[in-house]
Amino acid sequence: MLMKSENDEVISQVRETVQRVCEEFDGEYWREKDRERAYPTEFVNKLTELGLLASLIPEEYGGSGLSISVGSEILKAIHEFGANASACHAQMYTMGTVLRHGSDEQKAQFLPKIASGELRLQAFGVTEPTAGTDTTSLTTTATKTDDGYLINGQKIWTSRAEHSDLMVLLARTTPKEKVSKKSQGLSVFLLDMNDAKKNGMTIQPIRTMLNHSTTQIFFDNVPIPDSALVGEEGKGFKYILSGMNAERILIAAECIGDARWFISKATQYSKEREVFGRPIGQNQGIQFPIARAFAETEAAEAILDKACYFYEEGDTSGTYANMAKLLSSEASWSAAEICMQAHGGFAVAEEYDVERKFRETRLYQIAPISTNLILSYLAEHELGLPRSY
Ligand SMILES: Cc1cc2nc3c(=O)[nH]c(=O)nc-3n(C[C@H](O)[C@H](O)[C@H](O)COP(=O)(O)OP(=O)(O)OC[C@H]3O[C@@H](n4cnc5c(N)ncnc54)[C@H](O)[C@@H]3O)c2cc1C
Repeated sequence: MLMKSENDEVISQVRETVQRVCEEFDGEYWREKDRERAYPTEFVNKLTELGLLASLIPEEYGGSGLSISVGSEILKAIHEFGANASACHAQMYTMGTVLRHGSDEQKAQFLPKIASGELRLQAFGVTEPTAGTDTTSLTTTATKTDDGYLINGQKIWTSRAEHSDLMVLLARTTPKEKVSKKSQGLSVFLLDMNDAKKNGMTIQPIRTMLNHSTTQIFFDNVPIPDSALVGEEGKGFKYILSGMNAERILIAAECIGDARWFISKATQYSKEREVFGRPIGQNQGIQFPIARAFAETEAAEAILDKACYFYEEGDTSGTYANMAKLLSSEASWSAAEICMQAHGGFAVAEEYDVERKFRETRLYQIAPISTNLILSYLAEHELGLPRSY
């Protein structure tokens, strides 16, 4: 682990690097991708070349072995400087399932290629249309055969599936009726998507209000080898949960970045736009909500820093990661709201980027985990209130 001062130096270097990349891929680039609902391949390639997406992979596997604080700063900066990391953020953290629970062979085979960008592991197949948030009710099955498993079922909202070589897939290996707890009998697989596409897996893109490359996936007797199983059969739910804190922390960082972008944009516009012979930012009806969004963002970031600290200390409780995600997504939404209001009619003109960012940042209160489910977690685990579901 780096000392704090070394960490600060690395953070300032990665921020500068990200800023330069974002200057190259400016608003016009993102507007065009958004209009076409196209994948930002050039941007993702650039981040890959610079090694930024491999920052959390240990050095022995070809990554930079940096801490989650640095990973957070990379994603925060991408969003703060006007870009969007959703096309590739999962390349940074989905590998954690393999790193923590995979065999030595799986780690040696896949992690160096993920680090170099030769392989993309950025599809995460957990959510299903009928189970929704109730993950343990998922119905996709992996049935044992002589030399592997056959996958049948359907996933939804599997983002970046068309731009990924590998997918972390959660499927049921033992029927729910045969396990004492429904969290048992679920297994994680590392699926070779290129093989699966030739053998019964179909990917259908879903057009959404934002450019997110999300899809639904159908599995019709898709054969996979035994070597695709990650860890022990039946323990997959625990493995998936162990990656949730990292994901929540990193997404919270994106929200802080968005909030900063909105606050800066709103502040600048409010200084420049004159109506009734004075800048609109002189009116407290405009400046107070911007100031409040600023305070909320700083507070959320302090909780995010605490979440990073606990994560780096090896604490596995989800309390701070969840609170960071909750507060940061709310801070980015408050900032989005005042940025939109401060821009008046110009807010809805594409060329200001406000409406695009507004659509993008709204997602975070729903995915990767919805606000209500975070509140349920805190009520149950921190306050000892009865479980509500
Ligand atoms: C653009 C996008 C990308 C995504 N990417 C991925 C991905 O790559 N991989 C993946 O696996 N999933 C992905 N998801 C899925 C995402 O994680 C889920 O949408 C999210 O967790 C909410 O689940 P749901 O949509 O099934 O909502 P539901 O579970 O149907 O819930 C609907 C609403 O009811 C509320 N609710 C449900 N139960 C309770 C309760 N007990 N108490 C209080 N409120 C409750 C929820 O908070 C929510 O607001 C993505 C989703 C979107 C929209």
